[in-house]
Amino acid sequence: VAITASCVRSSKGEPINGILNVRDITREREEEERRSTFISVISHELQTPIAIIKGYASTLARSDAHFDRATQHSRLVAIEEEADRLNKLVENLLYASRIQANGLQMDISSLDLASLIHKVVRRIQARRQDVNITASIPSNLPTVVADRERIEEVLLNLLDNAVKYSPRQQAVSISAHATGEEVIVSVSDSGMGISLRDQEQIFERFHRVGDPMSQATPGAGLGLYICRAIVEAHGGHIWVESTLRQGSTFSFSLPREERAQLPMVVF
Ligand code: ADP
Repeated sequence: VAITASCVRSSKGEPINGILNVRDITREREEEERRSTFISVISHELQTPIAIIKGYASTLARSDAHFDRATQHSRLVAIEEEADRLNKLVENLLYASRIQANGLQMDISSLDLASLIHKVVRRIQARRQDVNITASIPSNLPTVVADRERIEEVLLNLLDNAVKYSPRQQAVSISAHATGEEVIVSVSDSGMGISLRDQEQIFERFHRVGDPMSQATPGAGLGLYICRAIVEAHGGHIWVESTLRQGSTFSFSLPREERAQLPMVVF
C-alpha cells in the first residue's frame, strides 16, 4: 500500500486536521513489474536471434571464407530457424496486443478436432524427428464449433512447449475425450514440471518460470496467455496439472457442437 499524510492548517498556520490516505497499489506495482519484465524479455528474445543471424551471415559472406557444403547448409538452416523465431515473436506480440486492445475476432464453423490434432502432430513431427509424439484420439470424437486457425495455434503452442521444456528424446502425448458437455484435449510431457506457485501465473502475459533451464529455453511468456484468450473466447477453459521434475499435463475444453452458443465477437 502507499500511505500519504497531510495536515490542514488554520489561517494562522496551526494544525487543525490531519488526512491519512491509504491506497492499494498492488495493481500498479504488478503493471510496472510486467512492463519491466516485458522490456527485458523482449530485448533478450530479439538480441539472441539477431546475434546468431548476424554472426552466421557475416562469416558466410566473407570473401575469403571457404566452407564445405554441409557447414554452409547447417549455417543457412540456423539462420532460417532464427528468422522463424523472430517472426513468431512478432506474431505473438501482435496477437497479444490485439487481445488487449479489442478482443479476438473469430471465424467460427463446425470443426473436426480429431483430424486437426493429427494434422498438427504430423506438422511438428516433420520438423522434429527427434521427438516422439503419441496421439490417442477416439475416432468418434464429437465435433466442436470453433475457429480452426486459432485452435491450431493452441495445439501448436501446447505441443511446442511440451517438447521445448522436456529433455531430448522424451515422449510427449496428446489425448482427447468427450464428456456430456465438452471435448477435452490434454497434452502431457515428462519434462521439468512447474511448481504450484508458477502454475498460478504461467497464463499471465510475460510470465516465465525463473529456473535456469526454463530461462535458457527461448520464449517470451506469451504462448499460454494467447492460448487462454483463445480457449476462453470459445467458452472453454484451460488448465495445468504438474509435478516439479516429473512433468506436466496441459488441458483445454471446448463446448461440443450441439452445446455451443455461436459467438460473433468474443472475449
Ligand atoms: P514461452 O514462450 O516462454 O514458452 P508460454 O506462455 O508458452 O511462453 O509459457 C510460459 C512459461 O511456462 C514458460 O516460459 C515456461 O517457464 C512454463 N512452461 C510452459 N509450458 C511448460 C511445460 N510443458 N513444462 C514446463 N514448463 C512450461
